[in-house]
Amino acid sequence: MFPDLLLHFEIGRKKSILAVKEAMNSNQLIFLVTQKRVKDNDPSKTQIYEFGVLARIKQIISQNGDLMRVLVEGKYRAEVVEYIDDGEFLKAVIVKKEDINQHKNAVSEALIRKAEDLFSEYLSISPKKPVDLILNLESYEEVGKVSDYISSNIILDYKDKQVLLEELDTIQRIKKLIVFLSHENEVINYENELALKIKSSIDKNQKEYILREQIKILSRELNDSSDPVTESEEYKEKLRKLKLPKDTYDKLKKECENFSKVPSGSSEANIIRTYLDTCFSLPWNKSSKDVIDISKTKKILDKGHFGLKDVKNRILEFLSVKKLAPDIKGQIICLVGPPGVGKTTIVKSLAKAMGKKYIRISLGGINDESEIRGHRKTYIGAMPGRIITSIKQAGTNNPLILLDEIDKISEDYHGDPASALLEVLDPEQNCEFYDRYIEVPFDLSNVLFIATANDKESIPAPLYDRMEIIDLCSYTYEEKFHIAKEHLIPKQLKRHGLTKKTFSISDDCINLLIRGYTKEAGVRELERNIAKVMRKSAKKIVEDEEKSVKVELNILKEFLGPVKYKNKKIDDGESVGVVQGLAWTSVGGELLPIEVLPMKGKGDIQITGSLGDVMRESAQLAISYIRSNYLKLGVKRDFYKNMDIHIHAPEGAIPKDGPSAGVTIATALLSSLNNIPVNSDIAMTGEIILKGRVLPIGRLKEKVMAAYINGIKTVIIPAENESDISKIDDVVKKSINFVKADNLSTVFEYALKDFKKNNISKKKK
Ligand code: ADP
Repeated sequence: MFPDLLLHFEIGRKKSILAVKEAMNSNQLIFLVTQKRVKDNDPSKTQIYEFGVLARIKQIISQNGDLMRVLVEGKYRAEVVEYIDDGEFLKAVIVKKEDINQHKNAVSEALIRKAEDLFSEYLSISPKKPVDLILNLESYEEVGKVSDYISSNIILDYKDKQVLLEELDTIQRIKKLIVFLSHENEVINYENELALKIKSSIDKNQKEYILREQIKILSRELNDSSDPVTESEEYKEKLRKLKLPKDTYDKLKKECENFSKVPSGSSEANIIRTYLDTCFSLPWNKSSKDVIDISKTKKILDKGHFGLKDVKNRILEFLSVKKLAPDIKGQIICLVGPPGVGKTTIVKSLAKAMGKKYIRISLGGINDESEIRGHRKTYIGAMPGRIITSIKQAGTNNPLILLDEIDKISEDYHGDPASALLEVLDPEQNCEFYDRYIEVPFDLSNVLFIATANDKESIPAPLYDRMEIIDLCSYTYEEKFHIAKEHLIPKQLKRHGLTKKTFSISDDCINLLIRGYTKEAGVRELERNIAKVMRKSAKKIVEDEEKSVKVELNILKEFLGPVKYKNKKIDDGESVGVVQGLAWTSVGGELLPIEVLPMKGKGDIQITGSLGDVMRESAQLAISYIRSNYLKLGVKRDFYKNMDIHIHAPEGAIPKDGPSAGVTIATALLSSLNNIPVNSDIAMTGEIILKGRVLPIGRLKEKVMAAYINGIKTVIIPAENESDISKIDDVVKKSINFVKADNLSTVFEYALKDFKKNNISKKKK
């Protein structure tokens, strides 16, 4: 309590309450002194200061049980002279103490200003002090009053305040106040600083937490149910369950952590999410149980495919080895043959027999290495390559993967897919196959790879070396007949909701379907035609309410239209200057007729048709041979000078390995020059050299098959190809007469009607 100031406080001690009541009953004056030690509960007169303030009780604000709240106003400083009574309450004689040194001068002014500054600083730094205190201060001018006002409004140790109260010299009083106040300010400043430091260190720890919380809230606001932090935790949980090799684990863990740092919904988050989803959907440790049961496999293969004895045997051998030595990685099997001969379906049957998942990768037209190895995930729309995609699709790490049309891959500026495939197929490397998208190695060593191709010569050499080729050949009519009757028709019946009772087709029709409506190595077109017939029959049954359909020749023609392929060779009969050659294309053997037309001119050679320049060399050789043997062959000496010769190959696809048409051109040329007809039902193949020797050719089996399909009865082949005859199907061999020629004169002898026998061959003998 200081003079001139209002104060309200609570009193609770009985003694004090009695004192207040006594005062209220008389002049309301009361002498207020401070006790020396706070903890004394009932201080005696020695335990209180003697210097205090005489105050007037202005109001008893409330009385609540034992507690009384009073408002007092300080009057003046006073000191106890003598205690009168120490009974119910303390009573004393006091003496008023006047302030001294009250003059107003520069010193007092300066001190006041200093005190005021400190006070305003005090107010600004100490929390929650009403600002109007400083305004009230302005109403005081005397230095003693100023210091009393400030003293009563600051928090100071009560002992210090007592010092200020007891100081009667106002200048000394304000000086002491200044010392206390500046000390107090310093303490407060330091306290504040400390609080700030503590706060910022807490802040730092909390900042991340708060930010994460904010991200959560923001993504919720954006209606994005996923939040990266929990999602990343889920990914990590998945990762722990996968049991991956350490390097792979570390790499994926890092990605999970990256994921938690990017805002969800951002394109980066999507990239990482797709990446992680792809990685986690791979069957790292999931495999199916392999079944190797030779007799069961044999049954399945026989049930699905007619014939194909060699192929089936080879597959069973492969399985037997696998059973005896499961860990040895053998060569990759590659089935080579024209389209539609059952390459794909037989592999599918194998997968079924082995209990493996079957996945087909079509390699046709691939010219980009990334198709195999994937794109880096930083590319827009990046994906893993086809191998990893297939593994993901299979859901097991040991499926059977069919690499279809491996001969159709090509190389360009995008890199070489063949070398990537080589890595896939090489058992030394494929246990750590690296896909650019996945970025971690994946073990492909348990995958069973089987390839197919139409043309083994187009398979890139390094791949070819790794593979074991199994040839599948075009089917004969008889084989096609069996396949149709035993496999295709029952299969299609089911697909069309027909039964043997509701649908039947005569053998004649099947034969006509094969010979008259299809011309192919395999049976695809045949299968399509059978399907067509059944579709039309189904319509008849449903629409025309017929009980069943019996397909006879006339109905077949009604369904499929007029016969497409007639045996033109037989129709054509014998002709001059036209000879049937034989060629091979990737879809099987083909008849390759060649026409030669000499006419008056100046010795030009013109070649037209699908073969173009490939034949020019053969043509030159044939002309030179005939020129040099003009006498024996009965040709006019100067024919090459005054005649233009036009050679034309009207039909067919472009043969893969050259037309092997030397003998054909020579025969056609001689026939036309001498106007001798060529025997009907004859076809030939073979290259020649200048002396007329006939050179061996490749793919005899397929070429002969083409002759057989086209109703040719005699085929002239190079003598050196004799050993290949054994590979030809028995049915074909039975219906074809082979002439083995080692030089052109033998060819002419058999091919040309009435070829004069006074020629080279006779002379030779
Ligand atoms: P590729 O893969 O050789 O081109 P596919 O395996 O696709 O040929 O065969 C085409 C169709 O011919 C399939 O429906 C298949 O069942 C059938 N097929 C081919 N060869 C035979 C066969 N020997 N026995 C039964 N059906 C066959």
